[in-house]
Amino acid sequence: MTLVSILSGAGISTDSGIPDYRGPNGLWRRDPEAEKLVTYDYYMNDPEIRRRSWRMRRTSSTWGAEPNAAHRAVAELERRPGVALRVITQNVDGLHQLAGMPARKVLELHGTARAVVCTGCDARSSMAAALARVDAGEEDPPCRVCGGILKSATVMFGQPLDPVVLAEAVAVARASEVFIAVGTSLRVQPAASLAGLAAEHGARLAIVNAEPTPYDELADTVVREPIGTALPALLAEL
Ligand code: ZN
Repeated sequence: MTLVSILSGAGISTDSGIPDYRGPNGLWRRDPEAEKLVTYDYYMNDPEIRRRSWRMRRTSSTWGAEPNAAHRAVAELERRPGVALRVITQNVDGLHQLAGMPARKVLELHGTARAVVCTGCDARSSMAAALARVDAGEEDPPCRVCGGILKSATVMFGQPLDPVVLAEAVAVARASEVFIAVGTSLRVQPAASLAGLAAEHGARLAIVNAEPTPYDELADTVVREPIGTALPALLAEL
């Protein structure tokens, strides 16, 4: 068995029509008003921010998005004999799973937009059910269990990453024989450091990204071609 890890960032989903909100040049960094909608303190303390957040979620490009060739190539690799694959993703769109990756093999560092969580009692439920309530007229639907404030199950600005997910990602990076970073600038910590950690522990490191990254020097392979063609080709050669 060869343990292969793929760290994916926003670049893998742009072919699916999902813009990079979160990156250094993403919408949320360029527009302070938009950034408030995904900043924990503003969200918790201002009902108007929450109403605007729910309206934004209703129109998110995520709901109509389909996995693209890169997501499908990753899911195909998971089914190849002799390969043990883990995906570590900075994305919250769930497209790896929609492409066929088993959910237990996908570590979502920034959570998922497809679920909601109660900030009072931690109850989880589906985003689709919450959005149906918004459609029916609830502008800021409260938790049905405890009446608390609901939010998307994503990691907002000002919130820590889930320590369990992060610890698992670190363990996976250390154990990897092949580590492929795709569509990520490798500039947001701690996700970026996983690439360095994998290389330090002996993994072959490949980077597929349009722009240079701080880890290119450490990499065995650096590919700048578009992800939709470059990643399937790279995975076919493994
Ligand atoms: Zn609750």
